[in-house]
Amino acid sequence: MSTFLDALRERLGEAGLLTAGDLSAYENDWRKRYVGKALAVARPASTEEVAAVMRLCHQHRIAVVPQGGNTGLVGGSTPDDSGRQLVLSLSRMKRIRGIDVANASLTAEAGCVLAEVQAAAAGAGLLFPLSLAAEGSCMLGGNLATNAGGTQVLRYGNARELCLGLQVVTATGEIWQGLSGLRKDNTGYDLRDLFIGSEGTLGIITAATMKLYPQPKERLTALAACASMDDAVALLGLARERAGDALTGFEVMNRASLALVARELPQLAQPLGAAEWTVLLELSDAESAEHARNVFEGLLEMALERGCVQDAAIAQNIQQAKAFWHLRESIPLAQAQAGLNIKHDISLPVSAIPAFVTEMDAALAAYLPGIAVIDFGHLGDGNLHYNVQAPAGVAPAAFLGAHEAAINALVYDAVQQRGGSISAEHGIGRLKREELAQRKDPTALALMRSIKRALDPLDLLNPGRLV
Ligand code: FAD
Repeated sequence: MSTFLDALRERLGEAGLLTAGDLSAYENDWRKRYVGKALAVARPASTEEVAAVMRLCHQHRIAVVPQGGNTGLVGGSTPDDSGRQLVLSLSRMKRIRGIDVANASLTAEAGCVLAEVQAAAAGAGLLFPLSLAAEGSCMLGGNLATNAGGTQVLRYGNARELCLGLQVVTATGEIWQGLSGLRKDNTGYDLRDLFIGSEGTLGIITAATMKLYPQPKERLTALAACASMDDAVALLGLARERAGDALTGFEVMNRASLALVARELPQLAQPLGAAEWTVLLELSDAESAEHARNVFEGLLEMALERGCVQDAAIAQNIQQAKAFWHLRESIPLAQAQAGLNIKHDISLPVSAIPAFVTEMDAALAAYLPGIAVIDFGHLGDGNLHYNVQAPAGVAPAAFLGAHEAAINALVYDAVQQRGGSISAEHGIGRLKREELAQRKDPTALALMRSIKRALDPLDLLNPGRLV
């Protein structure tokens, strides 16, 4: 092992290899659910250095855990506790390599923090629309490796749909130069789409070319109170009809999720009174501020008249709009503060969501009285974070130990029966690997395993994750 580490140090220099000191930031996941022990942390500063690391790992048969911002929620980005897995952090690969304004594209390295990519695009007068609550720490490579979704998928799609090209280092240390800015390229199998969403199991993403969009002239945000999920779905239909492509965000928060925020983060203002469902809507208007406001006011008036909304507030300035978003994006933090919960990142056809929520809430209440369902997420994409919290007075760890398997079975069976997915945007990692093995179409699983074997025959890339 020391020969391997010596060779790595020689290639990367002192700054490029961490073997001693406190490595916990690389070893433990954001939720503190997975506590690992790394062999070392390699921090290459260029694609060539990543390739050199992979060649050495291949030669010495060392397993590698690629890591970006380590904000993943399924235990994919941290090592196991064997002390034999190398963390490969992309955090020193932070260069924006270029912006092509006429082609509306940007090329950046995998270690660029998402917020930095957004800022670089804005600096060129354009919009990079990928946006999620972890954007101050998650990194472009991690976003692509997980095919991240976030709050703007409704209009712009997820990370996959925003990506034009990739640069990838393979398990044997070869470099695939796929950094194309082309929107059309039918020259065989789509390798780009194979690596996107592969969670570090097929190759190391070192850079990407991403699509940019015009900046909207005005962005308006509102909160609306709905009495039921049926009403929230009716509001979504109305908003789509009235605003079309200008509807860029449609998020929901149930009563329990905002009550949890009130308890854990009492400093955050909650402008509407407690409602069964609070919806956050965002319009991005290409015409003018006046046009945006007219569309929004007309839409909310009609919703109030039809009775699918009970109360609504449009943010009056950017600070207020940010405060509305902050409220929504603080739910995961409030949950983290409250202790571990049973997370479900599910997607369903929007039409199936009201019945799912009603039936599942009732089934869980019957299963264990006092259980709290913290239900929030991207309703516009049919994606709910349907998280189940321990009854008051029950320790989270004991709750997970006793009930996680049974609750997962209840929730995922219902999701599967309705044609949904057990992972809408967070991926599989370690958390859902067994679940995937049981629930994914067997032919799809066999094809996935063949691809894994073909690209990583020694199983060195993120072993034990995904497949
Ligand atoms: P990491 O956590 O470091 O890694 C994630 C996975 O990708 C791991 O399997 C890792 O091995 C692999 N990986 C990382 N970098 C590379 C690379 N360069 N090449 C190959 N594999 C790599 N996700 C959403 O989709 N939508 C949301 O709205 C959302 N909200 C969140 C809110 C909070 C508060 C938090 C903490 C997380 C949220 N997430 C969300 C989850 C997470 O932020 C995303 O999955 C994000 O894309 C992960 O990026 P990262 O750089 O942190 O990746």
